[in-house]
Amino acid sequence: MKHNFGAGPGILPHEVLKQAAAAVVDFNGIGLSLLEISHRSPEFEAVLDEAVKLVKELLAVPEGYSVLFLQGGASTQFAMVPYNLLPSTGKAAYVESGVWANKALKEAKFFGEVDVIATSKEANFTYIPKDYTIPSDAAYLHLTSNNTIYGTQLHKFPASPIPVVCDMSSDIFSREINVADFGIIYAGAQKNMGPAGTTLVIVKDELLGKADRKIPAMLNYQVQIEGGSMYNTPPVFAIYVSMLTLNWVKSKGGIEALAKENKAKSHVLYEEIDRNPLFKAVCAVEDRSDMNVCFVMENPELEKSFLKLCDEKGIVGIKGHRSVGGFRASIYNALSITSIYVLIEAMQEFAEKNK
Ligand SMILES: *Cc1c(COP(=O)(O)O)cnc(C)c1O
Repeated sequence: MKHNFGAGPGILPHEVLKQAAAAVVDFNGIGLSLLEISHRSPEFEAVLDEAVKLVKELLAVPEGYSVLFLQGGASTQFAMVPYNLLPSTGKAAYVESGVWANKALKEAKFFGEVDVIATSKEANFTYIPKDYTIPSDAAYLHLTSNNTIYGTQLHKFPASPIPVVCDMSSDIFSREINVADFGIIYAGAQKNMGPAGTTLVIVKDELLGKADRKIPAMLNYQVQIEGGSMYNTPPVFAIYVSMLTLNWVKSKGGIEALAKENKAKSHVLYEEIDRNPLFKAVCAVEDRSDMNVCFVMENPELEKSFLKLCDEKGIVGIKGHRSVGGFRASIYNALSITSIYVLIEAMQEFAEKNK
């Protein structure tokens, strides 16, 4: 077994993978693969219903919100959000906390005025900007809850006079959130919720129908809601595996229990990084992510040989993003604390060898 610290597509629970593999051959004993039955069959409709139900249950989604499983990844949401919410004469406020936020705001510029109310670009996004005023005349405020590349996480969401749209691709279901504080939440599944191929969107219904433009059907939230995420053929396998993963989250005691575990996991790892003389963390302490732990070496020349040691120990996926360098340990829900201890041991062994 490998210790999978990859940033995405990320680790999935082993039992989920086994169930998914079985369903590809014979889905629930019906003598057909999940991949060769109609998406309108009662069997698949039950899968989609269960997935939506689990999202609502795990996140305590209040009345007045719709839960969608769409395609095109979080990157399609970068455009779909302003397409549906930003009037052509209006503006939207964006906090630029990383490259994903930057991509989101660039897409919004196709549809209306974009007010970048804060950025940490000058510091290579090593912290989350907090000092800003939210313009009350903007259509929405766009935030990124966890900056996957840099390892920063928004631990306290700002009080906002306007609807908050949040990209939660890399920390959805990792900690408790209050859905009522948001207008739209979206997340590509492949970091912490399931395989690549579907995107979870939770949208407050009353925000829709206000854009002064025609919207293509596939990019229109209202059309997708009316079609129950089945305006066209949905990504059946990605939705099925997401459903299994959400069931696994529930079996683990839900988000509250996993959030505690995630805190414990990141805590021991940051503790080792701070203690070990060879390594140092790169982000502002108060913004450290519980999902992606980024760190570098005091002596970058040793990085290659540490990666080699990791490889020998079955630790995979910890090479940092090219824009940050060093290492990034992504410690999503499915990664057990045992794997963190294996990484910590490797760090200690390496420090001992390189005294
Ligand atoms: C990975 C990631 C994205 C891009 O997701 P896609 O599904 O590949 O489009 C967007 N935002 C964040 C925060 C991410 O981590």
